Amino acid sequence: MAPPSAPQVDVGRYDGGLERDERKGRRTGDHPDVLNIDSAAAGASHPPTRSWRLKDFDLGKALGKGKFGRVYMARTRPPNPAYIIALKCMYKKELVEGKLEKQVRREIEIQMNLRHPHILRLHGYFHDTGRIFLMLEFAAKGEMYKYMNKVPYRRFPEKQAALYIAQMTDALAYLHSKHIIHRDIKPENLLLGIYGELKIGDFGWSVHAPGNRRTTMCGTLDYLPPEMVDCLPHGEGVDLWALGVLTYEFCEGAPPFEEIDSQQYEGAHNPYSLADTYTRISNVDLRLPDRFSPELRDLVRRLIRKEPEKRLPLKDVLRHPWIIKYDPEAYQRSSVNLSKH
Ligand code: ATP
Ligand code: MG
Repeated sequence: MAPPSAPQVDVGRYDGGLERDERKGRRTGDHPDVLNIDSAAAGASHPPTRSWRLKDFDLGKALGKGKFGRVYMARTRPPNPAYIIALKCMYKKELVEGKLEKQVRREIEIQMNLRHPHILRLHGYFHDTGRIFLMLEFAAKGEMYKYMNKVPYRRFPEKQAALYIAQMTDALAYLHSKHIIHRDIKPENLLLGIYGELKIGDFGWSVHAPGNRRTTMCGTLDYLPPEMVDCLPHGEGVDLWALGVLTYEFCEGAPPFEEIDSQQYEGAHNPYSLADTYTRISNVDLRLPDRFSPELRDLVRRLIRKEPEKRLPLKDVLRHPWIIKYDPEAYQRSSVNLSKH
């Protein structure tokens, strides 16, 4: 769960945020029967864990705030062995108001059953009257999105991008082998581990699709494939398209069919409207920068294709010349049974 030196790790200073929320009434509400879920309880789709309560943790520094709660660095207290985790607290009242109980349950069910070096682990979960808590793997280097904003032009050298894409491809192959489509791949949903390795961290939009194809519209416009923009049925191919978009964004600093917020351009000429972005996606109007190497251009063009069945399968991404050039072992190293992909 965490390195053996966990007792010495500084978890930082707790800011009292949970108590402040309580005084503001965030924890209250008459939802005693909502999301009463514990990973220790039998009957879930995973083996039960030991039972956990908030008292089992020393809370440390705030890692961030989400729409429905807060995330803290935390360490399990004695007599438990000292583990470092990210403890995510969400308020039941706000989840009920947002009609998100089902989505949260689904996110937990999915993440609890996944074990992959590039997918953020969910170690356990528990609740009290007004809150649910997720015990997440701690991603020491934080968010990919913030990291990108710190590097020159928001872009990575091709070598660094290729290493991330190899990790991402392996994680997606693992998800697809379990019939899970992620559907919301973008830098905002990626975290970085202690060695700078990529971790998929958000499963809010993923679906378990054993054989069937879904038509629900969801995801972020910039990463949506033509079949979703055009409201057609879609399957695993959406993740291949998004992998191509991510590859492009890692190397260019912006996604290929960028939607520019017109409010930011008030009074000025807005170069792209929302409708333009839809049209560009639907027509696969892909323009690649001259700076891209021939191998990179080839990979992006093979992933960003109109017909989902023509997009390069994940096993072939791991053996593509652009990946081989920087990560020759990617295919052999893959822990996933790639025969079907
Ligand atoms: P949303 O509510 O849509 O999920 P979000 O992803 O910004 O929004 P959270 O998932 O609650 O919100 O996370 C809030 C912040 O806490 C993140 O932006 C990130 O900086 C930090 N964080 C979340 N999980 C971890 C983690 N496992 N390790 C390290 N930092 C994390
Ligand atoms: Mg999140």
